[in-house]
Amino acid sequence: MGSGSGRVIPPLTVRMARASNPRGTAAMWVRDRLDGLFTDTDFADWYPSDGRRGLSPAQLALVSVLQYAENLTDRQAADAVRCRLDWKYCLGLELHDPGFDFTVLSEFRDRVAEGDRADGLLALVVNRLAEAGLVRRRGRIRTDSTHVLAAVRRLNRGELVAETLRCALEELALQGERWLAALVTSDWADRYGRPIRYDRLPRGGDALIAWVLQVGADGIQILQAVYRDDAPPDLRELRSVQVLRQVWVQQYWHDASGQLRWRQAKTTRDRASRRKTEQRNTGKSSADGRPDPESARVPWSTMEIVTPHDPEARYSQKVTAAGQRDWIGYRDHQTETSDEAGLNVIIQVVTRPAPQQDIDALDDIHKQLAHQGFQPLEHVVDGGYVTMDSIHQASVKWDIPLLGPVRDDSQAAQRPGFTKEDFDLDWNTRTVTCPNGITSPPWKATLRDGHPRLSVLFPRKACRECDDRLKCTGNADGKGR
Ligand code: SF4
Repeated sequence: MGSGSGRVIPPLTVRMARASNPRGTAAMWVRDRLDGLFTDTDFADWYPSDGRRGLSPAQLALVSVLQYAENLTDRQAADAVRCRLDWKYCLGLELHDPGFDFTVLSEFRDRVAEGDRADGLLALVVNRLAEAGLVRRRGRIRTDSTHVLAAVRRLNRGELVAETLRCALEELALQGERWLAALVTSDWADRYGRPIRYDRLPRGGDALIAWVLQVGADGIQILQAVYRDDAPPDLRELRSVQVLRQVWVQQYWHDASGQLRWRQAKTTRDRASRRKTEQRNTGKSSADGRPDPESARVPWSTMEIVTPHDPEARYSQKVTAAGQRDWIGYRDHQTETSDEAGLNVIIQVVTRPAPQQDIDALDDIHKQLAHQGFQPLEHVVDGGYVTMDSIHQASVKWDIPLLGPVRDDSQAAQRPGFTKEDFDLDWNTRTVTCPNGITSPPWKATLRDGHPRLSVLFPRKACRECDDRLKCTGNADGKGR
């Protein structure tokens, strides 16, 4: 694309495109209704200001949108730029424009993936759609979450530590080859010379534990050397070295005698088997016959690094109607317009670590909506986002009415006594009627830990004489609640 940023469509391109597509196409509609969607100034900070002028980023972004809309490969998209009249019209190209090599598109996507550029581009598109009257800033929206898989191989813990050390050695070899050569011996090449795979690990519990402890000792040797005063200071700043340090803290610990130990897994079954293996390995255990549970436990999945190739990716599980799903990666919260008339457009995507619950993302979603200038009349969500508190916070903090099912108390059936579902609320009189038919005086609004609460007190005399008071929220002394 050598003919400029495409702000003005060449007259011959207009005539030819309209003659061959008299009813227009989606690409021509984008040009006519949205003025091409992007301008090069939208990408001003993406490229060095003193560099050689390359292809127009606005045109590449527009090609990427059209490519996605028509589900084309990079080669097909590059061919469409060269051959299709409606694409030339949309991009504002001369008919003889040769386009570009298809590899440019993947390089452009790499740039989009840096930092929060993708979010910025989405906000830009939403702004243009709003300016064109295609998206209402004050309407009905809905949010749902979906899992996002990290593009990584799933590793067991043995593979994780060895692959983490291998990645660190690879980067250290690039940045400080001589320094590293003085540290390692030829047997390291056997252990870390190629990607770590399960089928190459030792078989059997004892052999495997001995191997991961050897890997642990190797990793500590590298970390101690990197943090010595005479080591090049930039080596300890390498990303892979920082990941190595974090993974070692999460997967190993030193006992009171200074011996390196392998942390226990989190699940009951894994913890029991790990304890046996640990005792077999060390031949001793702590004073009460068990390893120190605090020191021996791997962190929760919100913190545990599961692959060195994407240290922010996390493991999570989700129970759905179709069954249980587990994955490594992230959780996307997608918010789209949902008015009865008009388009449904995704206006915001909030990405969080996979184990983070939906409810924890809600405040950020509302904050970003406010930042984007959206003030929805109604925000529809599923039960994962709804509690009494989140409804209240959305209303008072962001002036957004939250609409969704309040979650049932799934533990209620397992607890003795009454549950809150056994009490009838009357919002008009602000009273509650208990299972024995006693109605409280109007409740009072109070604050606890900064959170608003409704305080309901039943008549003390009625409760004192009530045969069911032991079933009644644990208030055994018979005083009113
Ligand atoms: S203890 Fe009081 S509130 Fe609870 S069931 Fe009995 S009368 Fe009702």
